[in-house]
Amino acid sequence: MTTRMSGVRIDGTAHEQAGNRTIRTVTSPIDGAAVGEVVRGTSEDAAAALDSAERAFPSWSATSAEERAVALRGIARELRAEAESGAADGWAWLLSTETGKRLGEAQGELNFSALYFETFARLVLEQEAEQFSAVPGISHRVAPVAMGVVAALTPWNFPVSIPARKIAAALAAGCTVVFRSSEIGALSSLRLIEIVERFVPSGVVNTVLGAPADVVDPWLERADCVSFTGSTRVGRILNEQIAGRFLPAVMELGGNGSLVVLDDADVARTVDTLMIAKFRNNGQSCIAANNVLVPKRLESDFRDALREAVEGLVVGDPREAGTGLGPLAPAGDGPRVSALVEAAVAAGGERLLDEREVPAGGHYAAPQFVFGAPAGSDLVAHEVFGPAAGVVAYDDVEDAIALQRSSGYGLASYVCGGDEERAGAVAARFRAGIVGINTGTPNYPGGPFGGVGLSGLGYEGGRLGLEAHQHFRMTAMAV
Ligand code: NAD
Repeated sequence: MTTRMSGVRIDGTAHEQAGNRTIRTVTSPIDGAAVGEVVRGTSEDAAAALDSAERAFPSWSATSAEERAVALRGIARELRAEAESGAADGWAWLLSTETGKRLGEAQGELNFSALYFETFARLVLEQEAEQFSAVPGISHRVAPVAMGVVAALTPWNFPVSIPARKIAAALAAGCTVVFRSSEIGALSSLRLIEIVERFVPSGVVNTVLGAPADVVDPWLERADCVSFTGSTRVGRILNEQIAGRFLPAVMELGGNGSLVVLDDADVARTVDTLMIAKFRNNGQSCIAANNVLVPKRLESDFRDALREAVEGLVVGDPREAGTGLGPLAPAGDGPRVSALVEAAVAAGGERLLDEREVPAGGHYAAPQFVFGAPAGSDLVAHEVFGPAAGVVAYDDVEDAIALQRSSGYGLASYVCGGDEERAGAVAARFRAGIVGINTGTPNYPGGPFGGVGLSGLGYEGGRLGLEAHQHFRMTAMAV
């Protein structure tokens, strides 16, 4: 399966290689096989994309909420139809092949993407101007106004659903878009764009894949809003670039989530929750549990149950039924995760499992937990972004809460406990924008998704995600 797609799509036209445009070969992390090619754009393309989005803005922002909802629902229908197929010529297969995520998760991602479009269609229909008459002789009206051109910039780990989350919200708000995805997962991101383009007028969404200096820098100088998802490191660079323009920004950055086990937790249920929170998307999720905090009283039972679960995790081709863990998308991430584990062991931790063989030829990493990893080790204190985590035993739950709060990040964290009220009280003290109580799947498109501290600024998803692309105008009229 190889296919060439253009990463330069401006004003409804896909541009082929010409002039300074280069080609990037996409390879699979499963076995290194070539999957396809992507045409990469230039700084001229980036400027043309922004021109196009600016031209399209007046008419798109003037459409009614109903018109925008119809477009979004059309896109969602296509995504749902695509999600049904796990066949080798389908989109989910491609997504699995180019990122290493399990086929079922790839199908789930397409459905979740559809849910973003459906959700923002609903939210924009529900949005109403606020009217009040508080001052005699004056009527006030507060109404949303689309910001303009949104620069939507995405990472590789969910190359369909993160672009969907951004594009659905921007389109619903009445904004036009310039879009750049990571070049890992790009074929799947571009398939989304092909569908989106069928439902909106030319120029409403323009795409340029290419070097950040060519594409992102010029967009940040002219766009009206930026929506970035990626690492804290890059988020910080962008934040500095836009500071002088006071550019409205949504920054969804890294995380370092904890899973805190309470002493009344059901061990089997806790392990089930952790297996999802840790190994979803091969551990490459910003809302992953990166460290596990266990009461000493439960440590031994927990360790036995976790060992059994992790031993049962089949590492292999993510497109095969029965695989529990696929390869990591970026080359070099397997050794990076192994080094984090080794450092935590060298600092006094103990591996849950003996080192195990992983398939050769791909970017595989063995799943691992390190019990007794020091709280200050990189495995515990920083984002792992892979299938490993440190486990820290505690005597006093106050210490667990303090550790959860200490990393500087504040995206997602988890608590498992028998008494829901008590678990809720612990969760309420987390430094986190998203909390799962006895569940490993806390995210939902209808709710806000965002973090605090080093995890970023603002929200995507839900009403707040729509409003992130709008400003609000108060009009006072003498009556
Ligand atoms: P990354 O920050 O390396 O890259 C993100 C995007 O920015 C990519 O498209 C990349 O090409 C681009 N980029 C790189 N350098 C740039 C620069 N100087 N200027 C402009 N753009 C630049 O992140 P990644 O490795 O693609 O993704 C993993 C990271 O993303 C993790 O830290 C993860 O936690 C985070 N993430 C956060 C969320 C969230 O919603 N909070 C969701 C998914 C991933």
